[in-house]
Amino acid sequence: MTMFPTTSQTSPTRGYLLRCGNDEFIDLKRHRELGGHAALRKALAMTPDAVREQVKAANLRGRGGAGFPAGTKWGFLPKDNPKPRYLVINADEGEPGTFKDRYFLDHDPHALLEGVIITAWAIGAHQAYIYVRGEFFRPIERLESAIKELYDAGVIGKTVMGKPFDLDIVVHQGAGAYICGEESALLESIEGKPGRPRMKPPFPAVVGLFGCPTIINNVETMAGVRLILEHGADAFLAMGLPKDGGPKVFGLSGHVKRPGLYEGPMGLSLKKLIFEYGGGTIDDKPIKGVIPGGSSTAVLLPDQLDITMDFEGVKAAGSSLGTASVMVFTEGTCPVAVLLRIARFYAHESCGQCTPCRDGTGWLERIVESIEFGHGRPGDCDLLISAANQIMGNTICALGDAAAIPVISFVQQFRQDFEDHIRLGACPYGNKPEGH
Ligand code: SF4
Repeated sequence: MTMFPTTSQTSPTRGYLLRCGNDEFIDLKRHRELGGHAALRKALAMTPDAVREQVKAANLRGRGGAGFPAGTKWGFLPKDNPKPRYLVINADEGEPGTFKDRYFLDHDPHALLEGVIITAWAIGAHQAYIYVRGEFFRPIERLESAIKELYDAGVIGKTVMGKPFDLDIVVHQGAGAYICGEESALLESIEGKPGRPRMKPPFPAVVGLFGCPTIINNVETMAGVRLILEHGADAFLAMGLPKDGGPKVFGLSGHVKRPGLYEGPMGLSLKKLIFEYGGGTIDDKPIKGVIPGGSSTAVLLPDQLDITMDFEGVKAAGSSLGTASVMVFTEGTCPVAVLLRIARFYAHESCGQCTPCRDGTGWLERIVESIEFGHGRPGDCDLLISAANQIMGNTICALGDAAAIPVISFVQQFRQDFEDHIRLGACPYGNKPEGH
């Protein structure tokens, strides 16, 4: 698989990925040759309030999955709290099928870091943490080398580009737990505690890292902040939709000819992404299903693909944009096997703090496994949906829902496949347990 195909031939916008081609690395010198720090200089010449207003006007919705407007989130910081404010960047990218933030860390860290410095200025944070998935060894090395370049060049440290505003940026390496991508678990982890999500409210903007007001943003969101300051809110909006501005990085994986990362406008047609950018399916086989936004989003059938890839567009089809990480599987793929992979992941990654998730995800995995390998019983489809519904909305964090949503959607969309497994007492696609 080509991990990062350049999209210059196909992508209509120029924002993120087109700054470098396959496996290039943009250091500080190259970043400046490409016009880097122009956005930062503009931001530093503005008041923090004015920067926040620009970002708000650009309708930049958070790129971590939830899609909350970034400028509005920044506005939740209490104005009268004397405690320090923190900026935390969530780079703990670990959802199956999602591999977009890794690109910025590994190839273009200064696009991220410039957004971090602008955001720190806008919210008045003198300390920023970038929490990176522990397995990202080379991206961490490259990110740290980029941060060192910034210190050496006097961009950050005691002043920011000579302005009397001190800023330190620290990389915090995770230790392999997916749940640390949940924002409050991530804060616990930075504080040195086990990564377990906190009850909310209070939300991190009010009581966050070390009990202080904290803004947590995604990597791609930070790259968007840089673009907004560089080109202006109107230009950023024009790269996307009126309520959902900017370009977007789309992941494409599974049974397509050219899997990889692609950049397009927010609101790109899903079919265009799969058939033009991705070159269509392998051997031109018919599509059986598409997961549009990472493994926690509801699966779509072939007749549901005429949609736009933006928060409202995917929602209207009954799923979610999530991380815009599209996974395609073609006819001949067992949907029960696909669901088993997903169910196993969430059961393994549950932090165990709340009963519906801790026990429920294990039940989901075991029932799906028994169906896949020929031990399913009549009624198991309804049992799966019932168990998933008892998890939904009854847990501390969103992992419970993330485990339940694919189960409900796969059973609803591919019920006949599930029933065939049960009736035949075997996987009609010939799958067997490992070792058999
Ligand atoms: Fe932990 Fe799951 Fe509860 Fe989240 S929903 S706090 S992962 S047990």
